[in-house]
Amino acid sequence: MLLTILGSSGTYPTPGNPASGYLVDVGSSRLLLDCGPGVFVRLLESNTLPDAIVLSHGHGDHCLDLLPLFNYLRFDRSDVRGIPLLAPRGVVDRLTSFMGAGVDHAFFDVFSPLVVAAGEEHRVGTCTVEFGVAVHPVPALCVRVQGEGASLAYSGDTGPGGDLEELSFGSGLLLCEATHQGPPPPDRYPHHLYAMEAGRTAEGAGVATLLVTHVSPTLDPAVSVSEAAAAFEGRVSHAVPGMEVEV
Ligand SMILES: [Zn+2]
Repeated sequence: MLLTILGSSGTYPTPGNPASGYLVDVGSSRLLLDCGPGVFVRLLESNTLPDAIVLSHGHGDHCLDLLPLFNYLRFDRSDVRGIPLLAPRGVVDRLTSFMGAGVDHAFFDVFSPLVVAAGEEHRVGTCTVEFGVAVHPVPALCVRVQGEGASLAYSGDTGPGGDLEELSFGSGLLLCEATHQGPPPPDRYPHHLYAMEAGRTAEGAGVATLLVTHVSPTLDPAVSVSEAAAAFEGRVSHAVPGMEVEV
């Protein structure tokens, strides 16, 4: 299993770093986890297309580049149709409403949407994708991808208290959001994680490697890595675009 970081910037893209987008190669299948602003151009630059797409939730920084990807596939890649698109309820409705798309719209020819929910497991090509509850203000899921003897987990966006730790248990790698730094204050925002919480989650799940991602662009990721590492015995790195990690 190979994880490739396309973009990791938290909440909005920055020069050189798209918002959330991650490729997972499992055998002959290539899965795209999230498709935030800037990710489509990265796909073009790397001359690659996913065999299936998983969207963790419907916030713009995780899904908006599905729109240019759709236009590209619709008009210039008639050879690619029916890409499985797994997303929680409401996400496809949001995206298709941009185009005023009815049920006979080309969107449903280019993509094969499937509404997924926590507790479900789906076979996608050569891998299995499992979903858990993410704590976020819109329907949101954390994700575990398994195949060819390896597995990784991805937080999407989540606060503490969801299924992430349990879903990640025993994975080779946890790709975990760490939007904030420092000790969580009493009035903390409940729908994102602090770096130390990413570390604690990785420790509780017993993963080998933690990659912190979705760090707020105003923060120094090196600080996030050291705060996460203080709570986790394994390896910790920051997910940067272009990074490839064998799992
Ligand atoms: Zn979000």
